[in-house]
Formats: sequence, structure tokens, C-alpha cells
Amino acid sequence: TTPIHIVGGGMAGCEAAWQAAEAGARVVLHEMRPVRKTEAHQTDSLAELVCSNSFRSDDASTNAVGLLHEEMRRANSLIMAMGDRHQVPAGGALAVDREAFAQAVTAAIEAHPNIEIVREEIAGLPPESWDSVIVATGPLTSPALGEAVHALTGEGELAFFDAIAPILYADSINMDVAWKQSRYDKGDTEEDKAAYINCPMDKDQYEAFIDALLAAEKTEFKEWEKDTPYFDACLPIEVMAERGRETLRHGPMKPRGLTNAHDPDVKPYAVVQLRQDNALGSLFNMVGFQTKMKYGVQTDIFKMIPGLEEARFARLGGIHRNTFLHSPRVLDGMMRLKARPSLRFAGQITGVEGYVESASMGLLAGRFAAAEKLGLPVTPPPPTTALGALLTHITTGHVPGKKGAFQPMNVNFGLFPDIEAPKTDAEGKRIRGKAKSNAKKMAQSARALADIDAWLDRRAEAAE
Ligand code: FAD
Repeated sequence: TTPIHIVGGGMAGCEAAWQAAEAGARVVLHEMRPVRKTEAHQTDSLAELVCSNSFRSDDASTNAVGLLHEEMRRANSLIMAMGDRHQVPAGGALAVDREAFAQAVTAAIEAHPNIEIVREEIAGLPPESWDSVIVATGPLTSPALGEAVHALTGEGELAFFDAIAPILYADSINMDVAWKQSRYDKGDTEEDKAAYINCPMDKDQYEAFIDALLAAEKTEFKEWEKDTPYFDACLPIEVMAERGRETLRHGPMKPRGLTNAHDPDVKPYAVVQLRQDNALGSLFNMVGFQTKMKYGVQTDIFKMIPGLEEARFARLGGIHRNTFLHSPRVLDGMMRLKARPSLRFAGQITGVEGYVESASMGLLAGRFAAAEKLGLPVTPPPPTTALGALLTHITTGHVPGKKGAFQPMNVNFGLFPDIEAPKTDAEGKRIRGKAKSNAKKMAQSARALADIDAWLDRRAEAAE
């Protein structure tokens, strides 16, 4: 039989290749790096993480991305297996050593007997002779391919902007000022409870910092970029500061759940958190500090942060393009382009947001394409699962309770069908407040895991 062609060896493309190959299909994976670079990738590795090194919460019972992790693990995900293998301490989150992770994914794909890797750009629509294609070229899809898809769909290719956060060297942080602690001391081990480095600010320091952000020189937008909206969960810090002087103190710089180890009696007015970025612990990234300030200004301003006066930066923040389809209009329920069903889409380009979400849509696309190729029945995962909820979002754009344009989406419980949660606890007391919303999430998670198991079992039976 002919192979499945996968374009793009990022989070989604690698997971799709792995899933299809494991199902018994032949795969050719086309990755343009290093022949052609993107604005954000820095290496030749497949599955390179372009910004933060975090897969976010690993709590499968009350957090939707943690639940997605667990569903993917049960579905033999390569991205999750390698993420677990190359984990670095991060409190309740799953963060990875980005280099070791990307190298391990690359090695696994290279070693798979059903996968061939070709390093080339697909600079336009794939040839008609390829009867099964998965396009997983991500937010930085090369313009030639992006424009060709746009021309084919006639509509639906949108762009907006995201920004990335700086990374600095651990040995340049002044630990006489900064201290190690996870927010609310979260984590199972001592290492986890001390996973973050915290830099405290008093009121005067915070006000001076906000003034500097407001005055800073920003990267100029090109003409066509001017009306492009930001993704709300990834606003540059200077844009947050423009929205109000207190915005950062209630956002990434919130002091809650943190006690200054050097001065426990004085409550910090604001805190900048740094998260470990590699297994060695030599690099830390600034949590939530994505920015589009000019490089020179960034170093000056970040050195105003107590503890970072002498900081050396391994990478500064920046702004980037994000390409995604208006999926609910242009894709069918199995992620095929209605205008040309031999083309399937996966990853961030389908309108999901985040490393794990992107990989998860690769997981589904790989399984769907393989089943089609091998003549097996294909059913989508139920919408009660995290995988199914995301698929439903991108194929129908249905966000319960939300109106408005189709927006890229992180996985969240708002995408899941409602459920009756227990109203009273074991002692018969009424459950209220946070406990009430947690009880509902736990019920949604339990239902999701039972349903994903049933879906995976049925698929295993069909393959036998
Ligand atoms: P990618 O992982 O980008 O993979 C796409 C691959 O396709 C790349 O390797 C690229 O080289 C290749 N390619 C592109 N065009 C072609 C072509 N024509 N032919 C052949 N190959 C091609 N998510 C988070 O969860 N946390 C973050 O902190 C975060 N920060 C981000 C910062 C930036 C700068 C960007 C751009 C995105 C960020 N994201 C983040 C969002 C997103 O989750 C990641 O981009 C994720 O890697 C998307 O996975 P993907 O597989 O869809 O695309």
C-alpha cells in the first residue's frame, strides 16, 4: 500500500507518525528544518518545544490538561512517554528537559521501521498522488504552504499573535534575595515543593517596574499585523501592564501562596516566578513573562527585578505568528479538509492551543489515517473524553455557554458535556464553593477515563 504522508515533524506530526506506524501503516514524515527554519525553532530536532518547557498540570482528576495527559498515556502516546521520561521538577506540573525530550522523540521516530523521515519543505499543496496526507505544520506553517491552503479553502486561514518568555542562567540569579518554593508548597516531594525560584518586589519596586514596562520600546508591527488580536492566555506583560497597573499583580506576578524565605514576616507585594527549564537545572524561564519589548530594553527592565540584577539571558522574549484554520467550517468530523478529503489536518493549525493539545490532535489524526489506510472502522472518541471534547471543539466550534468567533483553545472542562456531581460529601454535608466545582471536575474526569478505555478497547478489538 501507499504510505501516509505527514507534513511537519513537531508535536502533532511526531505523535501522528508514531500512532499511524504503531497501527501498522507506512509513514513518510516531511520536516523542513534544517533546510528551512522558522522564526521560533532553534534546533534540527523533531518535537522541539519553542517556548516554555511545561506540559502544564499533571493532575488527571481536577485538571483538564492533566486528564488529557492520562488519556494520551493510555493511548500509547510517544510525546507523553518521552515527556514522562525526561521530566524535571515543577511542582504539580509536568515540565521536561526540552533538549533530552526532543532528542528522545527524534530517536524513537528515526528508529521506527514503518517511518521514513525526509528533510524538505512542502512548499505548496502536497501532490495529488499522495492519497493520505496529514498537515501538521503548526503555528509557523511556512508561508508557501499556508497560502496554498488558504487559496484552497477560500477562507478560514487566520493569523494572530503570541509572544514567548525569556530564559536565564540559574547561576546568575542572586539566591540571597530569591528563594525556592512552589506556590502553596504544592508537590509530592521536597524537590517539587521547592521547584520554582521566586523574586520578591515591594510596592515601590513594583510601581517602578510597571513604569518601565509602560515606557519600553516595543517591536513594531508590520502593516498587516496591526489588527491582529492576541490570544488572551498568552498576553505580553507590557500589554497586561497597559490594561491596568494592577493587572500583573493579579496575574503572573501574584504573590499569593508564597513566603519569602529570607524575610518571612514581610509579605511581598508582587513576585516574579522562574521555572526550571532543563534537567541540569542550569536554565530557568520567567513564568508568564512573554514579551515583545525590544531586546536591549528587555535586559535592562528584567534586571530591575530583585535577585536578577546580574541575570544573564540564554534567550530573550519575542513575538510570533500563529496560523490556524477556521476548522469548524473547513474540516469534517474526522479532521479532513472538506474541499479535499485526502488532506487531514492536525496540531495547532486546527485551532487547538498548547503542546499537549497539539500532540493530542496528532494522536487522533494518526489513528484516523491509519484506520482508513488499513480498511478498519473509524469512530471518533466520545465527546465526554478530553480527546473527544477537543475534537468536537475544532470540528464544530461548539463552546458550551460561549458565543463569538472560533478561537484557538486550550483543553478545559468548559468543553465537556455537563454532568450531575454529588451534592453532599461522605458525611452528608452539602458541598459548596471550590469543593463543589472540584467534585464536578472529578466526576467529569472519572467519566472521561472510563469512556476512553472503552473507546480504546473497541479499537483494539477492531484491529484484531
Ligand atoms: P510545531 O510543533 O510547530 O511543528 C510544526 C513543524 O512543521 C515544525 O517542525 C516546522 O518546522 C514544520 N513545518 C512548517 N511548515 C512546513 C512545511 N511547509 N513543510 C515541512 N515542514 C514544515 N504552547 C505551549 O503549550 N506552551 C508554550 O509556551 C508555547 N509557546 C509558544 C511559543 C511560540 C513562539 C509558538 C510559535 C507557539 C507556542 N506554543 C506554546 C503553541 C503550540 O502549542 C506549539 O507551537 C506546538 O509546538 C504546536 O505543535 P504543532 O505540532 O502543531 O506545531
